[in-house]
Amino acid sequence: MNILVINCGSSSLKYQLIDMSKNEVLVKGIVERIGIDGSQIKYEKTGAEKKVFSKTINNHKEALKEMLDLILDEQYGAIKSLKEIDAVGHRIVHGGEKFSGSVIIDDEVIKALNDSIDLAPLHNPPNIMGIMACRELMPDVPMVGVFDTAFHQTMPPEAFIYGIPYEFYEKYKIRRYGFHGTSHKYVTSRAAELLGKKVDDVNLITCHLGNGSSVTAVKKGKSIDTSMGFTPLEGLIMGTRCGSIDPSIVSYLMDKESLNISEVMNILNKKSGVLGLSGISSDFRDIEDAAANGNIRASIALKAFTYGVKKYIGSYYAVLGTVDAIVFTAGVGENSDIVREMILDGLETLGIILDKEANRAGKKEREISTRDSKTRVFVIPTNEELMIASETAALVSK
Ligand code: ADP
Repeated sequence: MNILVINCGSSSLKYQLIDMSKNEVLVKGIVERIGIDGSQIKYEKTGAEKKVFSKTINNHKEALKEMLDLILDEQYGAIKSLKEIDAVGHRIVHGGEKFSGSVIIDDEVIKALNDSIDLAPLHNPPNIMGIMACRELMPDVPMVGVFDTAFHQTMPPEAFIYGIPYEFYEKYKIRRYGFHGTSHKYVTSRAAELLGKKVDDVNLITCHLGNGSSVTAVKKGKSIDTSMGFTPLEGLIMGTRCGSIDPSIVSYLMDKESLNISEVMNILNKKSGVLGLSGISSDFRDIEDAAANGNIRASIALKAFTYGVKKYIGSYYAVLGTVDAIVFTAGVGENSDIVREMILDGLETLGIILDKEANRAGKKEREISTRDSKTRVFVIPTNEELMIASETAALVSK
């Protein structure tokens, strides 16, 4: 069974065609700068050279068409006919309270997605555009929606409710939703395999640390709390996002800098985080280099970020009682031994003992705790596309 996984952003369309019989990627790539000058299609067929094609691409439908043409191309392609695509799995950012799992996309689902645009005005519209484009170009292929928020729908009210008047939850569904759910779910199932336990038996703290970062408390395989909130702005200090701050800072900044609300929100989303703190970059590699070369602000940024993760681990430890493993994933979590070491430093009293050599060695999925560490520590590269493809395959096979 071949599954096409689609992840649409406002000006991009990421894709992967996965052969589920072998868990093998046939082609993958990204169409970038959709609707902007300089559009291009990056295309990589497994085993062949990466290609970049420049072409004017005005919208997501054109992007999808160009990508499908390449997948079917005699010279570069991987399949001969659209019939060889059994289903399409769409990554959808926000499913609100309506979607606690993946769903087959039909008219009712599309209506519900349109109704929930208010909750994710930047992310859901391009996701919907991707769905509509597939519907037009491959009308006979079933589609599945996989939501970033779905894994966290198991959070109990005490974890998802905010301390503001309850009527705002009732009227506007203002609550914690959490994001990166597909990634937290994927590493949860991998960690269970590594622990030799059933998913329903594992307690974990999963740390997805990338450009955007979130930590999740997983009890018996289910998310019971997570650091991102109503939007992906809450929680940890991130590449460019501020994470949790005192809400009063917003009005104070508006006043002091004569800014309107969207200007302040732009600062908090795009100019804050380790970028704003360091004044150097949102990329953790640059921050680590600068800190190593004595840059004080980069050092503060790195310490503030890792201190934040440490605090979440401590509080989720308290919430979970026992923790089988801590998992690090995503760009920073998978690749930065410095970040992992700073986060776990001093947690020995909780029974978390890092094997510093294993932490520094290698890149792949591995255990990085010592043999006598009560809580084990794993690095598990995330694979959201494979997770989306498996959920899609499972639903369409039913
Ligand atoms: P996204 O949230 O965009 O999916 P990723 O999970 O791909 O992000 O993470 C991207 C980030 O990972 C980069 O911004 C970079 O800071 C970080 N990163 C990648 N490799 C390393 C590394 N070797 N050391 C430290 N940070 C790294």
